[in-house]
Amino acid sequence: MRIAQSLKPLILLAGAAVLAASMLPASSQAADKFTACVQGFWPSAKAAGITRATFDRAFSGMTPDPEVIEAANYQPEYVRPIGEYVDRVVSDKRIELGKQKLVELKPLLDAVEGRYGVDRHIVVAIWGVESNFGTQPGEKNVIRSLATLVCSGTKAKFARSQMNSALKILQRGDVSHELMNGSWAGAMGHTQFIPTTYSAYAVDYDGDGKRDIWGNVPDALASTASYLKVSNWRAGETWGYEVKVPKGLNPKAGSEKTLKTLGEWQRLGVVRINGQPYPRAGDKAGLFAPDGAKGPAFLVLNNFRSILRYNQANSYALSVGHLADRLAGYGPFVQPWPTDERHLALEQRKELQQRLATKGLLEGEPDGIIGPATLDAVKVYQREKGLPVDGFPSLTILELLRKEAS
Ligand code: CA
Repeated sequence: MRIAQSLKPLILLAGAAVLAASMLPASSQAADKFTACVQGFWPSAKAAGITRATFDRAFSGMTPDPEVIEAANYQPEYVRPIGEYVDRVVSDKRIELGKQKLVELKPLLDAVEGRYGVDRHIVVAIWGVESNFGTQPGEKNVIRSLATLVCSGTKAKFARSQMNSALKILQRGDVSHELMNGSWAGAMGHTQFIPTTYSAYAVDYDGDGKRDIWGNVPDALASTASYLKVSNWRAGETWGYEVKVPKGLNPKAGSEKTLKTLGEWQRLGVVRINGQPYPRAGDKAGLFAPDGAKGPAFLVLNNFRSILRYNQANSYALSVGHLADRLAGYGPFVQPWPTDERHLALEQRKELQQRLATKGLLEGEPDGIIGPATLDAVKVYQREKGLPVDGFPSLTILELLRKEAS
Protein backbone atom coordinates (compact mmCIF):
# COMPACT_ATOMS: atom_id res chain seq x y z
CA MET A 1 0.00 0.00 0.00
CA ARG A 2 2.60 2.46 1.14
CA ILE A 3 4.91 1.63 -1.78
CA ALA A 4 2.18 1.93 -4.37
CA GLN A 5 1.20 5.36 -3.08
CA SER A 6 4.73 6.69 -3.10
CA LEU A 7 5.30 5.39 -6.63
CA LYS A 8 2.33 7.15 -8.12
CA PRO A 9 3.73 10.69 -8.10
CA LEU A 10 7.11 9.45 -9.30
CA ILE A 11 5.60 7.91 -12.42
CA LEU A 12 3.67 11.07 -13.15
CA LEU A 13 6.75 13.23 -12.73
CA ALA A 14 8.35 11.56 -15.72
CA GLY A 15 6.47 13.62 -18.29
CA ALA A 16 3.35 14.50 -16.37
CA ALA A 17 1.17 15.82 -19.17
CA VAL A 18 1.74 12.98 -21.62
CA LEU A 19 1.29 10.13 -19.17
CA ALA A 20 -1.66 11.69 -17.35
CA ALA A 21 -3.44 12.19 -20.64
CA SER A 22 -2.62 8.72 -22.00
CA MET A 23 -4.10 7.02 -18.93
CA LEU A 24 -7.48 8.61 -19.54
CA PRO A 25 -10.15 7.30 -21.91
CA ALA A 26 -9.95 8.83 -25.37
CA SER A 27 -13.34 10.46 -24.92
CA SER A 28 -12.14 12.33 -21.87
CA GLN A 29 -11.72 15.66 -23.61
CA ALA A 30 -12.53 17.58 -20.44
CA ALA A 31 -9.62 15.92 -18.62
CA ASP A 32 -7.25 16.74 -21.49
CA LYS A 33 -8.42 20.29 -21.43
CA PHE A 34 -7.81 20.53 -17.68
CA THR A 35 -4.31 19.08 -18.00
CA ALA A 36 -3.49 21.52 -20.79
CA CYS A 37 -4.89 24.40 -18.77
CA VAL A 38 -2.78 23.43 -15.74
CA GLN A 39 0.37 23.22 -17.88
CA GLY A 40 -0.46 26.75 -19.00
CA PHE A 41 0.40 27.98 -15.47
CA TRP A 42 4.06 27.06 -15.95
CA PRO A 43 5.52 30.15 -17.68
CA SER A 44 4.11 32.49 -15.03
CA ALA A 45 5.11 30.15 -12.19
CA LYS A 46 8.63 29.83 -13.57
CA ALA A 47 8.94 33.60 -13.85
CA ALA A 48 7.85 33.84 -10.19
CA GLY A 49 10.70 31.54 -9.15
CA ILE A 50 8.81 28.27 -8.84
CA THR A 51 10.94 25.22 -9.66
CA ARG A 52 9.76 22.52 -12.04
CA ALA A 53 9.94 20.02 -9.16
CA THR A 54 7.53 22.09 -7.04
CA PHE A 55 5.26 22.62 -10.02
CA ASP A 56 5.05 18.92 -10.87
CA ARG A 57 4.56 17.95 -7.23
CA ALA A 58 1.69 20.46 -6.95
CA PHE A 59 -0.22 19.30 -10.01
CA SER A 60 0.68 15.63 -10.49
CA GLY A 61 -2.41 13.53 -11.09
CA MET A 62 -4.70 16.47 -10.42
CA THR A 63 -8.31 16.45 -11.60
CA PRO A 64 -10.74 19.36 -11.30
CA ASP A 65 -12.91 19.41 -8.17
CA PRO A 66 -16.59 19.56 -9.18
CA GLU A 67 -17.60 20.64 -5.65
CA VAL A 68 -15.54 23.80 -6.05
CA ILE A 69 -17.42 24.78 -9.20
CA GLU A 70 -20.71 24.01 -7.51
CA ALA A 71 -19.79 26.13 -4.48
CA ALA A 72 -18.56 28.99 -6.67
CA ASN A 73 -21.81 29.04 -8.66
CA TYR A 74 -24.10 28.69 -5.63
CA GLN A 75 -26.74 31.42 -5.53
CA PRO A 76 -28.58 31.38 -2.21
CA GLU A 77 -32.36 31.63 -2.53
CA TYR A 78 -32.54 32.86 1.00
CA VAL A 79 -30.69 36.10 1.66
CA ARG A 80 -30.03 36.34 5.36
CA PRO A 81 -31.01 39.64 7.01
CA ILE A 82 -28.06 41.20 8.86
CA GLY A 83 -29.60 40.63 12.30
CA GLU A 84 -29.93 36.94 11.58
CA TYR A 85 -26.34 36.84 10.30
CA VAL A 86 -25.05 38.46 13.49
CA ASP A 87 -27.13 36.12 15.68
CA ARG A 88 -25.76 33.13 13.81
CA VAL A 89 -22.13 34.24 14.08
CA VAL A 90 -22.34 35.49 17.66
CA SER A 91 -24.03 32.34 18.96
CA ASP A 92 -24.03 31.26 22.61
CA LYS A 93 -21.90 28.27 21.64
CA ARG A 94 -19.25 30.43 19.99
CA ILE A 95 -19.19 32.84 22.95
CA GLU A 96 -18.71 29.94 25.36
CA LEU A 97 -15.94 28.35 23.30
CA GLY A 98 -14.21 31.71 22.84
CA LYS A 99 -14.25 32.32 26.60
CA GLN A 100 -12.63 28.92 27.12
CA LYS A 101 -9.89 29.82 24.63
CA LEU A 102 -9.23 33.11 26.45
CA VAL A 103 -8.52 31.15 29.64
CA GLU A 104 -6.69 28.23 28.03
CA LEU A 105 -4.38 30.40 25.91
CA LYS A 106 -3.89 33.28 28.33
CA PRO A 107 -0.05 33.30 28.30
CA LEU A 108 0.03 33.23 24.49
CA LEU A 109 -2.65 35.93 24.21
CA ASP A 110 -0.79 38.13 26.72
CA ALA A 111 2.34 37.86 24.59
CA VAL A 112 0.60 38.40 21.21
CA GLU A 113 -1.33 41.38 22.55
CA GLY A 114 1.91 42.79 23.96
CA ARG A 115 3.75 42.45 20.68
CA TYR A 116 1.10 43.68 18.21
CA GLY A 117 -1.12 45.89 20.39
CA VAL A 118 -4.31 44.26 19.11
CA ASP A 119 -7.00 43.49 21.66
CA ARG A 120 -7.08 39.74 22.43
CA HIS A 121 -10.88 39.61 22.27
CA ILE A 122 -10.78 40.79 18.65
CA VAL A 123 -8.09 38.24 17.74
CA VAL A 124 -10.05 35.41 19.34
CA ALA A 125 -13.32 36.66 17.79
CA ILE A 126 -11.79 36.60 14.30
CA TRP A 127 -10.46 33.12 14.95
CA GLY A 128 -13.96 32.05 16.00
CA VAL A 129 -15.70 33.61 13.01
CA GLU A 130 -13.16 32.50 10.40
CA SER A 131 -12.62 28.84 11.31
CA ASN A 132 -14.64 28.23 14.49
CA PHE A 133 -11.36 28.28 16.46
CA GLY A 134 -9.57 26.10 13.96
CA THR A 135 -12.18 23.33 13.92
CA GLN A 136 -13.52 24.28 10.46
CA PRO A 137 -10.50 25.35 8.40
CA GLY A 138 -11.74 23.82 5.12
CA GLU A 139 -10.76 20.43 3.77
CA LYS A 140 -9.97 21.22 0.15
CA ASN A 141 -6.51 21.21 -1.37
CA VAL A 142 -5.92 24.88 -2.10
CA ILE A 143 -3.94 24.47 -5.32
CA ARG A 144 -6.55 22.10 -6.70
CA SER A 145 -9.34 24.56 -5.83
CA LEU A 146 -7.50 27.44 -7.49
CA ALA A 147 -6.69 25.37 -10.59
CA THR A 148 -10.33 24.30 -10.84
CA LEU A 149 -11.53 27.89 -10.65
CA VAL A 150 -9.05 29.16 -13.25
CA CYS A 151 -9.67 26.32 -15.68
CA SER A 152 -13.48 26.38 -15.34
CA GLY A 153 -13.57 30.14 -15.85
CA THR A 154 -15.45 30.68 -12.56
CA LYS A 155 -13.83 33.43 -10.49
CA ALA A 156 -10.85 32.76 -12.72
CA LYS A 157 -9.25 36.18 -12.40
CA PHE A 158 -9.18 35.94 -8.60
CA ALA A 159 -7.88 32.36 -8.61
CA ARG A 160 -5.14 33.16 -11.13
CA SER A 161 -3.97 36.05 -8.95
CA GLN A 162 -3.51 33.58 -6.05
CA MET A 163 -1.78 30.74 -7.86
CA ASN A 164 1.88 31.79 -7.67
CA SER A 165 1.58 32.77 -4.00
CA ALA A 166 0.08 29.34 -3.31
CA LEU A 167 2.91 27.57 -5.15
CA LYS A 168 5.49 29.60 -3.20
CA ILE A 169 4.00 28.37 0.08
CA LEU A 170 4.48 24.82 -1.11
CA GLN A 171 7.99 25.52 -2.33
CA ARG A 172 9.09 27.11 0.95
CA GLY A 173 7.74 24.10 2.84
CA ASP A 174 5.62 26.12 5.27
CA VAL A 175 3.09 23.29 5.01
CA SER A 176 3.07 19.97 3.18
CA HIS A 177 1.09 19.49 -0.01
CA GLU A 178 -1.26 17.07 1.80
CA LEU A 179 -2.06 19.57 4.57
CA MET A 180 -2.30 22.71 2.44
CA ASN A 181 -6.06 22.84 2.73
CA GLY A 182 -8.68 25.54 2.80
CA SER A 183 -12.12 26.60 1.66
CA TRP A 184 -13.28 26.15 -1.93
CA ALA A 185 -12.15 29.73 -2.58
CA GLY A 186 -8.63 29.18 -1.24
CA ALA A 187 -9.02 30.67 2.26
CA MET A 188 -6.57 28.70 4.37
CA GLY A 189 -6.17 27.40 7.88
CA HIS A 190 -7.12 28.90 11.23
CA THR A 191 -6.94 32.46 9.88
CA GLN A 192 -8.58 31.78 6.48
CA PHE A 193 -5.94 33.85 4.70
CA ILE A 194 -5.96 33.66 0.92
CA PRO A 195 -2.47 32.96 -0.48
CA THR A 196 -1.59 36.61 -1.29
CA THR A 197 -2.66 37.74 2.19
CA TYR A 198 -0.63 34.90 3.64
CA SER A 199 2.44 35.96 1.64
CA ALA A 200 2.19 39.53 2.84
CA TYR A 201 1.10 39.15 6.46
CA ALA A 202 1.51 35.67 7.96
CA VAL A 203 4.20 35.44 10.66
CA ASP A 204 6.35 32.69 12.13
CA TYR A 205 5.63 33.46 15.76
CA ASP A 206 7.15 30.38 17.38
CA GLY A 207 10.35 30.74 15.34
CA ASP A 208 10.52 27.25 13.83
CA GLY A 209 11.10 28.65 10.34
CA LYS A 210 7.56 27.95 9.14
CA ARG A 211 4.59 30.29 8.96
CA ASP A 212 2.11 27.60 9.86
CA ILE A 213 -1.47 28.92 9.97
CA TRP A 214 -2.81 25.37 9.45
CA GLY A 215 -1.44 23.52 12.44
CA ASN A 216 0.19 26.04 14.79
CA VAL A 217 -2.10 28.17 16.95
CA PRO A 218 0.61 30.67 18.02
CA ASP A 219 1.52 31.33 14.35
CA ALA A 220 -2.17 31.64 13.44
CA LEU A 221 -3.16 34.08 16.20
CA ALA A 222 -0.03 36.18 15.73
CA SER A 223 -0.70 36.29 11.97
CA THR A 224 -4.20 37.66 12.60
CA ALA A 225 -2.88 40.25 15.05
CA SER A 226 -0.07 41.19 12.66
CA TYR A 227 -2.52 41.66 9.78
CA LEU A 228 -4.75 43.90 11.89
CA LYS A 229 -1.76 45.90 13.07
CA VAL A 230 -0.68 46.71 9.52
CA SER A 231 -4.34 47.41 8.71
CA ASN A 232 -4.02 50.47 10.95
CA TRP A 233 -5.39 48.96 14.18
CA ARG A 234 -5.05 51.40 17.07
CA ALA A 235 -4.10 49.85 20.41
CA GLY A 236 -6.38 50.55 23.33
CA GLU A 237 -9.33 51.70 21.19
CA THR A 238 -12.64 49.96 20.58
CA TRP A 239 -14.34 49.18 17.25
CA GLY A 240 -17.55 51.07 18.02
CA TYR A 241 -20.54 51.69 20.26
CA GLU A 242 -24.21 50.85 20.11
CA VAL A 243 -26.00 54.20 20.06
CA LYS A 244 -29.41 55.80 20.29
CA VAL A 245 -30.31 57.89 17.25
CA PRO A 246 -32.70 60.83 17.86
CA LYS A 247 -35.96 60.97 15.90
CA GLY A 248 -35.51 63.08 12.80
CA LEU A 249 -31.99 61.85 12.13
CA ASN A 250 -32.53 59.04 9.67
CA PRO A 251 -29.34 57.15 8.83
CA LYS A 252 -29.03 56.10 5.21
CA ALA A 253 -27.03 53.34 3.59
CA GLY A 254 -23.40 54.40 3.39
CA SER A 255 -23.69 56.80 6.34
CA GLU A 256 -20.92 54.91 8.07
CA LYS A 257 -18.49 56.46 5.60
CA THR A 258 -19.29 60.04 6.66
CA LEU A 259 -17.00 60.65 9.60
CA LYS A 260 -17.57 63.09 12.45
CA THR A 261 -15.97 63.21 15.88
CA LEU A 262 -17.77 61.46 18.71
CA GLY A 263 -18.21 64.91 20.28
CA GLU A 264 -20.02 66.14 17.16
CA TRP A 265 -22.24 63.06 17.15
CA GLN A 266 -23.01 63.67 20.82
CA ARG A 267 -24.11 67.23 20.00
CA LEU A 268 -26.41 65.82 17.29
CA GLY A 269 -28.04 63.67 19.96
CA VAL A 270 -26.40 60.38 18.94
CA VAL A 271 -25.53 59.03 22.38
CA ARG A 272 -24.37 55.70 23.77
CA ILE A 273 -27.29 53.41 24.43
CA ASN A 274 -26.07 52.78 27.98
CA GLY A 275 -26.05 56.52 28.69
CA GLN A 276 -22.31 56.68 29.39
CA PRO A 277 -20.15 59.38 27.80
CA TYR A 278 -17.75 58.64 24.93
CA PRO A 279 -14.30 58.14 26.49
CA ARG A 280 -12.44 59.75 23.56
CA ALA A 281 -14.61 62.53 22.17
CA GLY A 282 -12.11 63.50 19.47
CA ASP A 283 -12.13 60.13 17.70
CA LYS A 284 -13.82 60.02 14.30
CA ALA A 285 -16.78 57.73 13.76
CA GLY A 286 -19.42 56.90 11.15
CA LEU A 287 -23.05 56.04 11.85
CA PHE A 288 -23.93 52.47 10.86
CA ALA A 289 -27.62 51.54 11.12
CA PRO A 290 -28.20 48.64 8.74
CA ASP A 291 -31.97 48.52 9.33
CA GLY A 292 -32.41 52.28 9.54
CA ALA A 293 -34.47 53.64 12.42
CA LYS A 294 -36.08 50.23 13.09
CA GLY A 295 -33.02 48.35 14.32
CA PRO A 296 -29.90 48.82 16.42
CA ALA A 297 -27.49 51.59 15.38
CA PHE A 298 -23.75 51.96 15.91
CA LEU A 299 -21.03 54.55 15.76
CA VAL A 300 -18.10 52.76 14.16
CA LEU A 301 -14.51 53.86 14.67
CA ASN A 302 -11.09 53.43 13.09
CA ASN A 303 -10.74 49.83 14.29
CA PHE A 304 -14.02 48.82 12.62
CA ARG A 305 -12.41 49.87 9.35
CA SER A 306 -9.34 47.75 10.22
CA ILE A 307 -11.58 44.69 10.66
CA LEU A 308 -13.05 45.44 7.21
CA ARG A 309 -9.58 44.91 5.75
CA TYR A 310 -9.92 41.29 6.83
CA ASN A 311 -13.30 40.93 5.11
CA GLN A 312 -15.03 43.79 3.29
CA ALA A 313 -18.54 43.30 4.70
CA ASN A 314 -20.10 45.52 7.35
CA SER A 315 -22.03 42.50 8.65
CA TYR A 316 -18.70 40.72 9.19
CA ALA A 317 -17.01 43.62 10.98
CA LEU A 318 -20.06 44.15 13.20
CA SER A 319 -20.17 40.44 14.10
CA VAL A 320 -16.46 40.36 14.95
CA GLY A 321 -16.72 43.53 17.05
CA HIS A 322 -19.80 42.31 18.86
CA LEU A 323 -18.39 38.83 19.47
CA ALA A 324 -15.25 40.44 20.91
CA ASP A 325 -17.40 42.54 23.26
CA ARG A 326 -19.37 39.47 24.34
CA LEU A 327 -16.11 37.60 25.00
CA ALA A 328 -15.00 40.54 27.15
CA GLY A 329 -18.16 40.12 29.23
CA TYR A 330 -20.48 42.77 27.74
CA GLY A 331 -24.13 41.96 27.04
CA PRO A 332 -26.15 41.62 23.84
CA PHE A 333 -27.33 44.66 21.86
CA VAL A 334 -29.91 46.69 23.76
CA GLN A 335 -32.12 47.47 20.76
CA PRO A 336 -33.53 44.34 19.10
CA TRP A 337 -33.25 43.64 15.39
CA PRO A 338 -36.51 44.52 13.61
CA THR A 339 -39.09 41.83 13.02
CA ASP A 340 -41.71 41.77 10.29
CA GLU A 341 -43.07 39.33 7.72
CA ARG A 342 -39.56 38.60 6.35
CA HIS A 343 -37.46 39.17 9.48
CA LEU A 344 -38.05 36.82 12.40
CA ALA A 345 -36.43 37.33 15.79
CA LEU A 346 -34.12 34.64 17.17
CA GLU A 347 -36.84 33.27 19.49
CA GLN A 348 -39.35 33.17 16.61
CA ARG A 349 -36.86 31.27 14.43
CA LYS A 350 -36.31 28.74 17.22
CA GLU A 351 -40.08 28.38 17.67
CA LEU A 352 -40.51 27.83 13.94
CA GLN A 353 -37.89 25.07 14.01
CA GLN A 354 -39.48 23.50 17.10
CA ARG A 355 -42.88 23.44 15.40
CA LEU A 356 -41.42 21.97 12.18
CA ALA A 357 -39.69 19.32 14.32
CA THR A 358 -42.95 18.47 16.11
CA LYS A 359 -44.46 17.84 12.69
CA GLY A 360 -41.57 15.51 11.89
CA LEU A 361 -40.20 17.78 9.14
CA LEU A 362 -36.94 18.72 10.90
CA GLU A 363 -34.46 16.99 13.17
CA GLY A 364 -32.12 18.24 15.87
CA GLU A 365 -32.13 20.90 18.55
CA PRO A 366 -33.70 24.23 17.47
CA ASP A 367 -30.92 26.84 17.32
CA GLY A 368 -32.53 29.67 15.33
CA ILE A 369 -29.96 29.23 12.57
CA ILE A 370 -31.73 29.07 9.24
CA GLY A 371 -29.69 26.54 7.30
CA PRO A 372 -30.45 24.22 4.38
CA ALA A 373 -32.37 21.73 6.59
CA THR A 374 -34.74 24.41 7.88
CA LEU A 375 -35.25 25.82 4.37
CA ASP A 376 -36.05 22.33 3.08
CA ALA A 377 -38.49 21.71 5.94
CA VAL A 378 -40.26 25.01 5.21
CA LYS A 379 -40.51 24.00 1.54
CA VAL A 380 -42.10 20.66 2.41
CA TYR A 381 -44.56 22.45 4.66
CA GLN A 382 -45.37 25.04 1.98
CA ARG A 383 -45.99 22.26 -0.54
CA GLU A 384 -48.26 20.49 1.94
CA LYS A 385 -50.29 23.66 2.39
CA GLY A 386 -50.41 24.52 -1.30
CA LEU A 387 -48.41 27.72 -0.73
CA PRO A 388 -45.76 29.16 -3.04
CA VAL A 389 -42.65 27.05 -2.37
CA ASP A 390 -39.76 29.45 -1.69
CA GLY A 391 -38.48 28.05 1.63
CA PHE A 392 -38.59 31.49 3.22
CA PRO A 393 -39.16 31.24 6.98
CA SER A 394 -41.71 34.06 7.19
CA LEU A 395 -44.08 35.19 9.92
CA THR A 396 -47.01 33.79 7.87
CA ILE A 397 -45.47 30.30 8.05
CA LEU A 398 -44.90 30.60 11.79
CA GLU A 399 -48.47 31.76 12.35
CA LEU A 400 -49.88 28.91 10.23
CA LEU A 401 -47.87 26.40 12.28
CA ARG A 402 -49.14 27.98 15.51
CA LYS A 403 -52.75 27.89 14.33
CA GLU A 404 -52.42 24.27 13.32
CA ALA A 405 -51.09 23.28 16.73
CA SER A 406 -53.78 25.06 18.76
CA1 CA B 1 6.11 28.69 13.09
